[in-house]
Amino acid sequence: MRESLEDLHGNASSLHREGQRARAAVDRAREQVALLVNAHPDEVVFVSGGTEGDHLAMLGAIGDRAEPGPRVAISAIEHHAVHGAAEVLAERGIPIDTLPVDHDGVLELDALDHLVHGTTLVAVMLANNETGVVQPVTQAVERARRIGARVHCDAVQAAGKIAVDFQELGADYLALSGHKLGGPKGAGALVVRRGAPLVPLFRGSAQEHGRRGGTENVPGIVGLGIAAECAARDLEAERRRLLELRHRLEDGLRRADPELVIHGERVERLPNTVNASFAGARSDERLMALDARGVAVSAGAACASGAVEPSPVLSAMGVPRDLAVCAIRISMGHTSTASEVDRLLTIMPLVLRAARASGRVSV
Ligand code: PLP
Repeated sequence: MRESLEDLHGNASSLHREGQRARAAVDRAREQVALLVNAHPDEVVFVSGGTEGDHLAMLGAIGDRAEPGPRVAISAIEHHAVHGAAEVLAERGIPIDTLPVDHDGVLELDALDHLVHGTTLVAVMLANNETGVVQPVTQAVERARRIGARVHCDAVQAAGKIAVDFQELGADYLALSGHKLGGPKGAGALVVRRGAPLVPLFRGSAQEHGRRGGTENVPGIVGLGIAAECAARDLEAERRRLLELRHRLEDGLRRADPELVIHGERVERLPNTVNASFAGARSDERLMALDARGVAVSAGAACASGAVEPSPVLSAMGVPRDLAVCAIRISMGHTSTASEVDRLLTIMPLVLRAARASGRVSV
């Protein structure tokens, strides 16, 4: 990325040599991203990240279509970016159906069979960003096809953590984001199956073959490409290493609190994500206490002015409200080590005791 900042000043759309050097760097990144997810390079459209990718897929699949009336279904546990794109469509009068998940956080596949025939688009993420639960996307695609629907798959959390195979998944659209892969923020890709409709969000000078107008963010794209290459190279070893760390973490947390509830524990999850509720210890209090000791986790609940709202993902899984507001998500990545896990395990009992002693469990 630094080399491209220092040396690739040309506009990748320019015909002069400087421009063509930038174009070559962009095209190399396109191949690197395509290789990570087993897609054709010409199916890769560079965008600014997961949020734009989700919007481009969902709004782009529907376009200005009015007849016959489009209809969209999304799983209840989609990221805000997919919910946001669905909101835009709803404001245009397009009906949005919600597909439920079970208590483990897995999509209820049968719900797809009850969708209105002719549903235009179904969105099912590959792995949930809060629980890490892996979704049955291939089966969802098969069922969506029976009712004639296209499928968008948000693979932002999954890519780089587990194998993502665009051909095997069978989806029409697949969103990726650089900063979830060890790459830069503000760079991502939407993989669009050959022949799938895509009305662009931005119409400019026909960059990305007319699918995404705007001068390419060359350093960001280069960073995304290298991150994709490294993720593909290290995938299996990293997956195994992270899984070992996750087991170490979960075993230790359970020793600290035998009543601990790990959300989605019984089903396949990403190797780096643990979402767990410690009854009676509110997540916002633990988050602050851990942060003060140098450990950054995220709350499975959004809190504003002292009021804690349970996460919609945990609510969709039927987690009771008083347990949902006690959930935290601990994520690990390629820099995480066993000694960091052990440090968290040393701190956690102190933090739990303090949070429980504060007695603020009511919501
Ligand atoms: N989709 C999922 C599942 C995510 O986890 C995120 C980010 O956390 C996004 C989409 C949005 O990606 P970005 O931050 O690149 O816009």
